[in-house]
Amino acid sequence: MAQIKQELINPGEAEQQVLQIVEAAADGIDMDALTALTAALQPIERQNAINGLLGSKKLTIQQAPGGVLRLKVNTGQQIGGTPEEQAIYSLIEESKTRGIWIRELRDGTGLNQLQLRKTLRSLENKKLIKTIKAVGTTKKCYILFGLEPDMSLTGGTFYSDQQLDSELINTLISVSGSYANSRRKHAIDSNPNDIQLQREASYIRPQEIADFISEKRVLNVPLSVEDLEKILDVAVLDGTIERRADGKIRACPPRVSASPLVSVPCAVCPVVEDCRPGYSISPETCQYMKQWLDGL
Ligand code: SF4
Repeated sequence: MAQIKQELINPGEAEQQVLQIVEAAADGIDMDALTALTAALQPIERQNAINGLLGSKKLTIQQAPGGVLRLKVNTGQQIGGTPEEQAIYSLIEESKTRGIWIRELRDGTGLNQLQLRKTLRSLENKKLIKTIKAVGTTKKCYILFGLEPDMSLTGGTFYSDQQLDSELINTLISVSGSYANSRRKHAIDSNPNDIQLQREASYIRPQEIADFISEKRVLNVPLSVEDLEKILDVAVLDGTIERRADGKIRACPPRVSASPLVSVPCAVCPVVEDCRPGYSISPETCQYMKQWLDGL
């Protein structure tokens, strides 16, 4: 009986085949799919090709949710550590400035809790990664050492050490109000006889205030117009600033304080008709009158 001898493919060609298939899969490929797409390879050839590509760091292997192993093209930085360190580092690197939770690292690498913590500690000691406590949570998140965390983790400009910086907010409200007030005063002085022009000239674009705050270095970090808009929203609610439909703002006219006469108790007194100086009901003996006078 004639024997058919199956010819083995050159190892370099096998690696090339596997690499091209994995490169074509943006989210990586699992072993079953790879086997189906490389049916012409003997199992040993396929396994050797995968091992060769993992060894030369051209591919990485990751565990998808559900425990399925996937091969991916290695686009990350090589840190020259253990395979566990490299796997964790690559996942953290992929998360960019959003960071990654420890549970996602465990699911992504398949490492147990002990291995995971040991490897994370080693990467932290090597100053390759750092932990961030996200605002509003006690959970730790990992990010590459040299990166600044995303605003969704830090809370943005108005948070300091995960706390809302109310002092900074009040300072910015005050600076914005002063700027708008000085513009309003200038508009009145420049157009003494034209109320319409005074009003128009007192409106400011928020970008102008943001530029002023940046120029005067009121903050150590750049203030975006989006952040300033939030500050101006508070000032609008306080009634110190008003905003019109095109987004421009202006300082509200100073509030006129009410005359004390408005609150004189006699205005609502049920016995006002019987109240006379020297009588049993009189202003001299009235507790309400005394309190009102004390408050003036
Ligand atoms: S002085 Fe007192 S009692 Fe007399 S009218 Fe005023 S509130 Fe009424």
